[in-house]
Amino acid sequence: MDIPEREFGFNTRSLHAGAHPDPATGARALPIYQTTSYVFEDPESAAAYFNLQEYGNTYSRIMNPTVAALEERIANLDGGVGAVGFASGLAAQSAAFFTMLTPGDHVVASSALYGGSITQLKHLFRKMSIELDFVDPDEPRAWKSAIRSNTKLFFAETIGNPGGNVLDIEAVAAVAHAEGIPLMVDNTFATPYLCRPIEWGADIVVYSATKFIGGHGTTIGGLGVDSGDFDWSNGRFPVVSEPSPAYHGLKFHETFGFYGYLMKLRTETLRDLGAAMSPFNAFLLAQGIETLPLRMDRHVHNANIIANYLNDHPVVQRVSYPGLDASPYKELTTKYLPKGPGAVFCFDIPGGRDAGLKFIDSLSLFSHLANVGDAKSLVIHPATTTHRQLNDEELTGAGINAGTIRVSIGIEDAEDLIWDLDNALNVISSTSASTSAS
Ligand code: PLP
Repeated sequence: MDIPEREFGFNTRSLHAGAHPDPATGARALPIYQTTSYVFEDPESAAAYFNLQEYGNTYSRIMNPTVAALEERIANLDGGVGAVGFASGLAAQSAAFFTMLTPGDHVVASSALYGGSITQLKHLFRKMSIELDFVDPDEPRAWKSAIRSNTKLFFAETIGNPGGNVLDIEAVAAVAHAEGIPLMVDNTFATPYLCRPIEWGADIVVYSATKFIGGHGTTIGGLGVDSGDFDWSNGRFPVVSEPSPAYHGLKFHETFGFYGYLMKLRTETLRDLGAAMSPFNAFLLAQGIETLPLRMDRHVHNANIIANYLNDHPVVQRVSYPGLDASPYKELTTKYLPKGPGAVFCFDIPGGRDAGLKFIDSLSLFSHLANVGDAKSLVIHPATTTHRQLNDEELTGAGINAGTIRVSIGIEDAEDLIWDLDNALNVISSTSASTSAS
């Protein structure tokens, strides 16, 4: 009897997509293929692999079966045609950028990005002679008016780090596509469980897998997912469609069709930048992704409780969680993030930098460190750490001031997190009371 086809649900795919019991040993867990290289069947196959006439493992800087399982899983969860793994989120971004950009090109990016991304764009791009404009991500008209004849890319985060702005993906994608420009979205804070940007028109999705995808704070990694929908032969991207001098004249778009960009990302850019994901890291990230839906539900549940608690607290001045009823992003959250807008957000306390640092010092359960998306709750003072390289105008654009605290809400008992926050807020209110009395 023929078994009918079935489209598996997200939970099932988080566990199974891209991986099968090992045919050689029967091992049920994903094997770690800790090898640099692969013995070729014969000289002809070796040549065919290097010519990209056949697809086969050559060298682990470019491909590895453990990394491939993770790549296939994320592509499946995101609805892309494929994915490439990298050593970090910033490596994934660099590679995704430099597969499509050449000196003299122009990029329009959201001003509300992770500080490291802003620094990467501003300084690395300048070194590569790439022009850049930051725009208010909430204004589709700002994106439109920033377009120039040499504009090659729009770049934004689904949920901005740390301001919590929610991108109107469909509207920004429409502006980009009307001019033949791709939209790249950093979906790190949402993960494919909360939002799948490709379904709303994004062309490329990048991740810092270091965060919720891994979920345990053990592993740095990055992923780039291609929708396969963008037309790289529209005249703006000779670097993808014309013969590549870095690959003996191969025309990636013509040869591989909707896989063209992805093939170039892997076989040319990853090959040359060299920032490959290690098989062991891919294994750890794949362990994490198995429980992504369960963890994200719990993260969102707790974040909602904590955001409302902070919002009602007399000492707290502003809470940026987009899930709050009063958030200006509530409508966009309902549209793009119906299961909830993640678990990373900011709030402001009075007393500026000193109060911010004192607050952090008074916490005991939250860990003070530079990461987000861990199962454990985390806290940081962005103005002096993650966003330290930004000037005042850029800090304002990113929704940060001297008294801003960023939290990443974990999966502990919410009451315990409130106990911790309450203690630290009491320290702040007693300090400000004694300062105003003196
Ligand atoms: N994108 C976002 C939203 C981030 O928060 C980070 C790091 O904090 C990155 C990208 C960079 O990721 P990685 O540290 O894995 O390079």
